[in-house]
Order: sequence, then C-alpha cells, then structure tokens
Amino acid sequence: MKKPFDPTRARPATRLVHGGTLRSEFGETSEALFLTQGHVYDSAEQAEARFKNTDPGFIYARFSNPTVQMFEDRIALLEGAEAAKATATGMAAVNAVMFGQLSAGDHVVACKALFGSCRYIIETLLPRFGVQSTLVDGADLAQWEAAVRPNTKVFFLESPTNPTLEVYDIAAICRIAKKTDIKVTVDNVFATPMMQSPLQLGADCVVYSTTKHIDGQGRCLGGVILGSKQFIQDNVYQYLRQTGPAMSPFNAWVVLKSLETLPLRVERQAQSAAKVADALAELPGVTKVIYPGRKDHPQYELARRQMRGGSTLVAFEVEGGKAGAFRVANALNIIKISNNLGDAKSLVTHPPTTTHDRFTPAEKLEMGITDGLLRLSVGLEDPDDLIEDLAQALKSLEWPADAKIVRL
Ligand SMILES: *Cc1c(COP(=O)(O)O)cnc(C)c1O
Repeated sequence: MKKPFDPTRARPATRLVHGGTLRSEFGETSEALFLTQGHVYDSAEQAEARFKNTDPGFIYARFSNPTVQMFEDRIALLEGAEAAKATATGMAAVNAVMFGQLSAGDHVVACKALFGSCRYIIETLLPRFGVQSTLVDGADLAQWEAAVRPNTKVFFLESPTNPTLEVYDIAAICRIAKKTDIKVTVDNVFATPMMQSPLQLGADCVVYSTTKHIDGQGRCLGGVILGSKQFIQDNVYQYLRQTGPAMSPFNAWVVLKSLETLPLRVERQAQSAAKVADALAELPGVTKVIYPGRKDHPQYELARRQMRGGSTLVAFEVEGGKAGAFRVANALNIIKISNNLGDAKSLVTHPPTTTHDRFTPAEKLEMGITDGLLRLSVGLEDPDDLIEDLAQALKSLEWPADAKIVRL
C-alpha cells in the first residue's frame, strides 16, 4: 500500500496536479466527473445523520458535490486558504460575499476602479437594501482612512484594476481595516493566484471569476470564494446553500483540470505580455503603455513588492481617440475582439464602449479610461506573432478616413 500523499507539503505546481483528488473505487487516473444532483443513503439513519451534519458525506449538489469539492480543495491549497466555496459565476461569488456579510445599516468602502458589475452591486444594489457605500480612489490611502465610519463592515477592492491596471497597496489598506475589525475582500482576478496572495497580505477573503485565467480556454463560467473556515462558515456558506448559485459539476471538472496547467499558462502569458508591452512602447501610434511589470508604471515598486509577476494584460492608448482605437482593433488578425480575458487566445477590447460603456465621460476619465484606450489580454500564441499583428494594425492609423477595412 502506498503512503497517502500530503499535498500541503508540496510546492504549488504539485498541489495543482494532485491536491484535493477524491478517487473512487475504480482508481481512475483523471479526476471523475460526478454528474449527479444528489446521493443515495445506506439507511434512513444515515440520511438523518447527513442532515444533522454528524456524517460528513454529500447530500445535494446545491450544497456540495464531489467534483466541485475537488476543485475547491485544490484551489484552497494553492491560495493558502483554509476553505473555498465555488459559485456559478464570478459575479455570484462577489454577490454572495457582499450580501452574506452585510445587513441594512452597514456601510462598505470600495475602490472606484472596479469591474463594472462589482461596482453595480456596491453602488446601486446594496443601497436598495439599506447598505450605504463610499467609493474611493484606491491608490490614495488617506481616502480609505477618511471613508471609515462606525458602521463600516467591509472593504472591497481589486488590484491590478480593470482596465487601467492600477496597483493598490493591499497590505496598507488591510492595516487601515484592521484598526476597527473591517473585513477586506480582494477581487484577485487580474493578478491570478499565481501572482498575488491577498490572504498573506492581510485580506480576509479572496474572490475569483474562474471564467478568466483559471479556465483559461474560454469554455465555462465560474467563481470561487476563499478565506478562513470561520469566514466562509459565518458569511457565505448558508447564503450559498440557501440561495443556490452553485457551480455545476461539469464546470467544476473543467476548471479542476485547468488548475493542472495554470502555472504554466500564467507564467507564459505574463512573459509574453511583458514582451508585447515593451514592443508596443516602441511602435508608432501608441501614446501610452500601462503594464505593472514596466519601470514606467506609476506603482512599479509596489507591484514588485506585492506581486510575483507583471500581468497577463496590457493596456495601451493609441492616437485618434475612439476612431483610432476602432481602426486598430478592426485591423488585428490574430488578436480577436472580445471582452473575456486570461484566455489562451489573445483578446482585445475597447473598454470605454464595452465593459465601461455605462459610465459617464467624467466617470471614465476619473478611472483613466480615455477614448483611445485598448485592453489587451495576452494569450498563448508566439509573442512575436502578436507583436507583428499589432505593428501591422497600428499602420491602419495612417489610412485615409474613408478607407475600407477588410477583415481576414
Ligand atoms: C470577469 C470578472 C468578474 C465577474 O466574473 P464572471 O465570471 O463574469 O461573473 C469579476 N471581477 C473581475 C475583475 C472580472 O474580471
């Protein structure tokens, strides 16, 4: 009999291949997809024990499922979290963390530069249920401090931000929160678990949209919430169990298998992104390049301190405002126009007319979202092909205004 393997003693890449595996009596090599909504019990007594929580087995897929649990245990091992709960989408995770923790009369502080739907929950939805919110410039620690009220319960932030890749000082923001027992949740989608560990920087909770790098191949939606056993138990477990935004076992199986290759993909995509960012900075027509791994990034030193890499995303601004950005996006061949990110395929999006379209011009400027801004998610293609594609697309800025564009 082989000794059982303890994944907590292994390094991250090994944890991501073996951690959390539940093998059935068939001894399958690849993790099984338990496509079942429920489980049968040996006896009425056992059913009773399951519901009383004295028998640890599975009950119903809205609460838990063996494949979903494999994914949760594996990603918890990577994050260094005691507990994880998977959700149907990234937004279901953010929603559960907010509504699970907050009640009427509470107050939440968040950074202005947030993923659009996160900002909608905080700015529009929570106030409808009596939870007040204050949005601050995330880089300005004095604003976090000044926003705290006696009833402030939660800080929420993302770093690097979407789409302008601003980097916020997570440890310093957590120190402000800890003065009065405010709980901090970090949306760590852009950094990925490979490049940043908010729990180690003092955060109480980390959320991911697994739709992005964790799937990494654009196949299915998903989300996950990570924190201490106590945090998950007190704030999110009952909310998820009773309201039902469960991750499907099929999607869990896809993202579970994706975790095996996550370190390889993210490392390669970040290396390529760094190369693409440097090339973009030299190309005519580009007026600005934003990349946390470049020395000209305003928070370069902070990014080096709190992250283990640059980013797989690059933001850049082209000449000619919206018309210029549209021309460049339309002239790209390899790089596709799509608002997903973290994908194996390189994807470009024009945030001011898509993901951030609902904001007023003044709000967009406040977040640094100019008309000529493009956000590029760098995929697994050869970076030299991507640089050539960008170089030829930027030439379109020289075309006459009425030129016909043919997409291949
Ligand atoms: C995509 C994304 C979300 C939402 O995730 P979904 O899976 O689309 O629901 C939340 N935060 C950030 C930063 C994201 O990029």
